[in-house]
Amino acid sequence: MLTDKTILITGGSRGIGAATAVMAAERGARVFVHYLSNHDAAAAVIARCRAAGSAAESLSGDVSSEADVIDLFDACRERFGALDVLVNNAGILHPLDRLENFSAERLHEVVNVNIVGAFLCAREAVKAMSINHGGKGGAIVNVSSAAAYLGSPNEYVDYAATKGAMDTMTVGLAKELAGDGIRVNAVRPGLIDTDIHEGDRLERLYRTIPLQRVGEATEVAETILFLASDASSYVSGSLINVSGGR
Ligand code: NAP
Repeated sequence: MLTDKTILITGGSRGIGAATAVMAAERGARVFVHYLSNHDAAAAVIARCRAAGSAAESLSGDVSSEADVIDLFDACRERFGALDVLVNNAGILHPLDRLENFSAERLHEVVNVNIVGAFLCAREAVKAMSINHGGKGGAIVNVSSAAAYLGSPNEYVDYAATKGAMDTMTVGLAKELAGDGIRVNAVRPGLIDTDIHEGDRLERLYRTIPLQRVGEATEVAETILFLASDASSYVSGSLINVSGGR
């Protein structure tokens, strides 16, 4: 169901984004990977996508930079033509801390990357995909978090709040963009084994998960690609937890 679709994945060099890129390639999609600065990791993902027989390209840049996001969508269009799917996956966390210690710099950065970046990418995706802009329609999948409903007290309430904003963005854009032929949904991963976690956090917390284990990036990728594909043609405005019951 992804054959001949072009899928653009932000934060595609590592973790959930990388797993999504490789799985999409294995299922026949053309893959465009965006990442911040880890060139070796991005190159490895592109090599795995091509080894699966799919066309794949990458570009580095910062999703919170409007100029970089415009360059990203220009590069994707020049390489692959029409776009079918945006996966808004790039996101950051700061070290675990309490509100008293949050600097304005920390707050600006997490909001700029996690929310302003997601909005800028969604905006450019609409210009590329909307049937009202000459496109053929498509899908946007936002990678939110279980933090949106847990709140992440004593860890990173700021990050959790950006994911709550992403959920609201998902619900609003699903309604706003339905007439553009674009479905908008979100996945809300729980504790997933990636580089984003500091220290022994996964080891400390996995017993709080009803399924009694952390998740794998591929288990999130499966849901992202369901929402990206025509298999979910009547699904829009949905927030799907991939959190082991947490
Ligand atoms: P990760 O392993 O830390 O990977 C982060 C990815 O985002 C990398 O590809 C990184 O690029 C890219 N990135 C970071 N800042 C960027 C920026 N400013 N512009 C462009 N790309 C940027 O993260 P992950 O765990 O896979 O998380 C992916 C998404 O899932 C995030 O939105 C996260 O909030 C969400 N999530 C994760 C979990 C979890 O348990 N892992 C749970 C819930 C939600 P470089 O490689 O170049 O640094």
